Amino acid sequence: MQIDKTKPVMLTGATGYVAGQLAKKLMEEGFAIHAPIRNPEDREKTKYLDEIAAQTPGSITYFKADLLQDGSYDEAAKGCSVIFHTASPFFISVKDPQKDLVDPALKGTENVLNTASKTESVQRVVLTSSCAAIYGDAKDLIDYPNQTMTEKQWNTTSSLTKSPYSYSKVLAEKRAWEIANSQNRWDLVVTNPSLVIGPGINPYADSESYNLIKQMGDGTMRFGCPDIQIGCVDVLDVADAHFKAAFTPAAKGRYITSAANLDYITLAGLLQPTYSKYPLPKNTVPKWLVMLMGPLTGIPRQYLKDNVGFDWKADNSKIKKELNFEFRPIETTINAFFAQLIGAGRLPKK
Ligand code: NAP
Repeated sequence: MQIDKTKPVMLTGATGYVAGQLAKKLMEEGFAIHAPIRNPEDREKTKYLDEIAAQTPGSITYFKADLLQDGSYDEAAKGCSVIFHTASPFFISVKDPQKDLVDPALKGTENVLNTASKTESVQRVVLTSSCAAIYGDAKDLIDYPNQTMTEKQWNTTSSLTKSPYSYSKVLAEKRAWEIANSQNRWDLVVTNPSLVIGPGINPYADSESYNLIKQMGDGTMRFGCPDIQIGCVDVLDVADAHFKAAFTPAAKGRYITSAANLDYITLAGLLQPTYSKYPLPKNTVPKWLVMLMGPLTGIPRQYLKDNVGFDWKADNSKIKKELNFEFRPIETTINAFFAQLIGAGRLPKK
């Protein structure tokens, strides 16, 4: 489908970490963004977007909307050709997983996609899902062909009580496909990023991405880190992937958006040459010790049992081939991210 690039686009969650870099990319390309956010009066959150709007050919207009409020995205969607739906809570520890994660993820997706169905101008919806919708624990990969994730698999092991964030992403993406398949005016393209890292437009953003990398430099892992493998991707790549997913006419289905398969210790090792003065983890902690210490750090024992020591591999060939995509090197990304944490005072200067 040829997407009309002259019309405005709607971007949900523009105040968030991932969406910030997507908003920047869209404004650099000259797009008018309709940005429905919870609190358009909160200048602390919108000022970074406004600064970019002032320096680029594009523009951003705010609307008031909430994922849990039916119809609240209708006004912002008017006249838009593309809806980017990134807004969804990304927290690992929550008090009430149904209320704090599942409701906004699932009801929010229904709400935004129902708006797409009501809005004549909308041709495509690009949804930010996650690799978490593809796998629950690294242990699950044992049963996947070649022990590798592809766009064909779904996470079947997370639940409200086990990795509820991942569960919220599965429910939301599944519902998105159901809604998309129930009509034929707009099509759905989904990005499935792994752990997103790299400088955001707001150095004080509170996405879980910041917390995970901050822990490498604040002493939390000075005695070592668990042998956990993950996938990583630069936030700029995630922005580019959303952009290409929206405007490549032949884009179709899900796209694993993950630059590299690696483990915490390798990731921390990439910081060593420049940041050796920081208490970076230098070794992995044996699994029995991790299991013993886990509850003290707030990480559930079951999560450690099913993730420590297991291989994590994602196949990113679909996005490379179909969207002609090249990923940035993670070494540059993690060093730039660490520098941003220091620059913002979130890690001490050394
Ligand atoms: P983030 O910085 O916490 O952004 C979340 C966004 O969702 C914020 O703009 C937030 O608005 C909005 N939001 C939350 N609850 C809302 C509600 N009830 N109504 C309206 N808006 C609401 O997190 P992020 O890391 O950028 O994540 C963005 C998306 O990427 C999510 O869908 C996440 O699942 C996905 N993702 C992230 C990663 C990663 O490593 N970061 C990896 C894979 C996928 P406020 O500013 O008002 O709070």
